[in-house]
Amino acid sequence: MEKLLTKEQGRAAIVKMGHKLIEKHLVAGSWGNISCLTENGLIAITPSGRGYENLQTEDVVLLDKAGSVVEGERIPSSESKLHTAIYAACPEARAIIHTHSIYASALSAMHQGVPAIIEDIVQICGGRVNCAEYAICGTQDLADAAVKAMQGKKAVLLANHGAVCWGKSMEDALIVAEVLEKAAQIAIICQSSGGKVYELDAEDSTIMHNFYEAHYSKRQMGEE
Ligand code: 13P
Ligand code: ZN
Repeated sequence: MEKLLTKEQGRAAIVKMGHKLIEKHLVAGSWGNISCLTENGLIAITPSGRGYENLQTEDVVLLDKAGSVVEGERIPSSESKLHTAIYAACPEARAIIHTHSIYASALSAMHQGVPAIIEDIVQICGGRVNCAEYAICGTQDLADAAVKAMQGKKAVLLANHGAVCWGKSMEDALIVAEVLEKAAQIAIICQSSGGKVYELDAEDSTIMHNFYEAHYSKRQMGEE
């Protein structure tokens, strides 16, 4: 695994990612949030209720793994419990992106997950992405429901809310968020057209996921 980011690198990576999420229409206004792990086991996270366009590195808050503020003047994201719970449950997670993207949110409004119908999301997640049981935003209940429904995958939908994705790096988490949103859009298009949808079978999904983990993800990171 790559070296952990310094606090300053983490803060800068979050500001940069905020601009990308706006550009890619994965968030709107100040909703959604971003975090990454930094040296000394700290978590750099977006401040609560601040838009992404004008976000400055000093607005990013540093938390310890229990969610207490260690550095920063701003109020940390109200979803800090969600982020700390995912880092605790997924040891490979180095970055988390919570989006309010349109198609993932549409499926989440129907309490549906993202079905395993398209190869890229199946490569990344190894099968369908679940929708967590509904819980109100910002609560420990939401964090617990998300981790439970995630079942070790890199993404989960939050009922009537949006999506949460983690990655082994910030760029990796963005790939998960983009591909998840694309898969959700395809699922909605298929549902709307009323055609028969064929879900990929579990054995093929595992083959594709293993290939992704062993090779394809490394190619994406320039390591193979
Ligand atoms: P914050 O601005 O507090 O991060 O909250 C936004 C959000 O998406 C809550 O779920
Ligand atoms: Zn949210």
